[in-house]
Amino acid sequence: MRAAGRISQRALRLAGAAVEPGVSTAELDSIVRKYIEEQGATPSFLGYGGFPASACISVNNVVIHGIPKEDCILKQGDIVSIDVGAYFEGFHGDNAWTFPCGDITDEAAALLNATKNAMFEGIKAAKAGGRVGDIGYAVQRYAELRSYSVVRDFTGHGVGAKLHEAPNVPNYGTPGRGPALMPGMVIAIEPMVNMGTHKVKVLRDKWTTITADGKLSAHFEHTVAVTPEGPVILTDAD
Ligand code: MG
Repeated sequence: MRAAGRISQRALRLAGAAVEPGVSTAELDSIVRKYIEEQGATPSFLGYGGFPASACISVNNVVIHGIPKEDCILKQGDIVSIDVGAYFEGFHGDNAWTFPCGDITDEAAALLNATKNAMFEGIKAAKAGGRVGDIGYAVQRYAELRSYSVVRDFTGHGVGAKLHEAPNVPNYGTPGRGPALMPGMVIAIEPMVNMGTHKVKVLRDKWTTITADGKLSAHFEHTVAVTPEGPVILTDAD
């Protein structure tokens, strides 16, 4: 799983490094697909439930599941969430990061920073002997104390031979509640944090998920193993 995670992370970093004004989201998607296939792996999202691309690329008010397009051209000030999974030797890795396109507003930079930190708070809470609610609580608390909201309609998830496995890992919760965290479990911890309301809408293409109020949203994700020694990030490039 570490090998699948590493490929996913490297593909994500390559696409992130290409984020700049004038680049289309389809170009970023090709970078992801090319790198993953060169490693002898398969893009986890390509064809998943009919998804037409290798990466989900979600710009500004798009929360998740944005479909890469030739005519979606990035511009200065955009925030660009890229979500990438790779399937390698029987297992998946899944990770996401929101990148600034050129100079972004302080407000947008603060959202990115808070969402990334909320993810790491969640990861720290992924301890054997704990519960899934501990993770959701840590993420929610960090985000809401800073006046952001966490998306409820989509959650993190188990990862393994399938991309999405039990348990669901919500970004909200109550400490000590929910499924037990046991050594050997692998989960994707992936806060989706909104500037305004937590409510989202899915567009008619059945994928693109946007904030209900049109405000910005950010998304960060790592695949994490629960071990007796604590949480281990598998979507690590090193
Ligand atoms: Mg995921």
